[in-house]
Amino acid sequence: MNIQIKNLYKSFGANRVLDYINLEIRSGEMFFLLGPSGCGKTTLLRSIAGFVDPDAGEILFDGKSVAKVPAYDRNTALVFQNYAVWPHLNVFENVAYGLRVRKVANDELQRRVHTALKQVGMESYAERKPATLSGGQLQRTSLARAIVVEPDVLLFDEPLSNLDAKLRLEIRAEIKRLHGELKRTSIYVTHDQHEALTMADRVAVMHSGHVQQIGTPREIYEQPANSFVASFIGEINLFNANSPLAPLLKTNANSEKFGFRPEKVELSGHGIPAKVIDNAFLGASSELLLETANGEKIKCHCNSPVANGEQVHFTVRTEHILHFEQ
Ligand code: ATP
Repeated sequence: MNIQIKNLYKSFGANRVLDYINLEIRSGEMFFLLGPSGCGKTTLLRSIAGFVDPDAGEILFDGKSVAKVPAYDRNTALVFQNYAVWPHLNVFENVAYGLRVRKVANDELQRRVHTALKQVGMESYAERKPATLSGGQLQRTSLARAIVVEPDVLLFDEPLSNLDAKLRLEIRAEIKRLHGELKRTSIYVTHDQHEALTMADRVAVMHSGHVQQIGTPREIYEQPANSFVASFIGEINLFNANSPLAPLLKTNANSEKFGFRPEKVELSGHGIPAKVIDNAFLGASSELLLETANGEKIKCHCNSPVANGEQVHFTVRTEHILHFEQ
């Protein structure tokens, strides 16, 4: 299922939550909506699901407008942050629920629920009630409930937010594996850049109701469209064009701002003098904060031991300096 969003506009009072959004989600891809809290990504997801009525613009599923198609007829399935399982039903019945609503015959229902539970590794929990399950098991149950109805589009709304770091990695891998197996068009909302970078085929970075950039994780990281994207995805040392660093780094583009990633800073015997003012040991490497004679601060990574207060020199190759108009 291919999804096109054309000039989509939604406001709540004076708050323009979706400010004429345009994007296309390709059939079978894992597409991420990434942005800070309040940027409109959940509203966009809920508009696609049919739970929010846009004020203007169009949403097309395989070229056809879904404006008049109610949520229950869009053949999408949602996986939420808070699982949204029925507490009084056991795992089997929670997963079977969507099939019972669709009046699927019992034989087929049994087969499909067992297959879905197997796909998420929950077969042996079929009889358990939600109150007896861990967060990871609850989220696996909601995954099974979403895939069992064989939706054209899978929608994920921050599905890992309630899980601890270890479970987050586990369910993240599970969603990625399931997507590889099922190849359903999937739209995934998150504010977590790591989730987006590790799982997405493509990402739309959103800010204040606008799409800032659409691209593969690599494109967005290596060629950010503006300074917002550059600082939201990964870390960047960002300066105004009139910074005293500009002539020292020989950046001569006429842009408003320039910047470079910490991993692109090379410490060497020559280059710009600076002092190490902070030093975070990360095991295999250290993260340093340098300060130049002009008081500019630069983050960089270093593989050999360097002490606080030590004088160093650094360079950044011109091809690694990014230029931004805003
Ligand atoms: P978060 O990750 O915090 O949910 P988000 O990017 O998903 O953020 P949305 O949930 O889409 O953002 O909300 C965007 C803006 O719209 C916010 O300012 C929110 O308060 C507002 N908003 C969302 N739904 C409604 C509503 N039903 N009524 C009024 N304002 C709303």
